[in-house]
Amino acid sequence: MLDQDRWSRLTEEERKAERHRAIKRGQNRRRARRMRENGPRDSYTLLQIGERDGWRCVICHSTVNREFKAPDPCSPSVHHLVEIVAGGTDTLDNIALAHRFCNSDSYAWGPKTPAEARQRLADRVLHGKHGPGRRDRVPDAGADALADDITRASEGG
Ligand SMILES: [Zn+2]
Repeated sequence: MLDQDRWSRLTEEERKAERHRAIKRGQNRRRARRMRENGPRDSYTLLQIGERDGWRCVICHSTVNREFKAPDPCSPSVHHLVEIVAGGTDTLDNIALAHRFCNSDSYAWGPKTPAEARQRLADRVLHGKHGPGRRDRVPDAGADALADDITRASEGG
């Protein structure tokens, strides 16, 4: 935490970022406590879960490329099938591999069919977090091909 003196020297932007970090710290602490309260936990790595689940996203059913690193929306993440806030445990039977975006999108906006989830992920890749309305955003190199790969995933739904 920052003392009064340091705080007074921050710009408005830096204060905003600092408030955001404080909120995140609180969320992470509460989530970690909730995980402990929900019962015993398994130890695992993202790599193990990726191998176990065949590098396929449990939410949109398209491929997860392990080369993508957080915070990339396509990077691999661990999804809790029963959410921690709903009493889900951090155990192997309650986790599955998911794209980082599919994972947070599912928690934030509820479950979707795999086809819907793929469309949302493709939109995110193409248009960034501000959606298609942002004309000033130039898609990253390869975004078109990546979005195509995601929406064309063979798995039905
Ligand atoms: Zn996905």
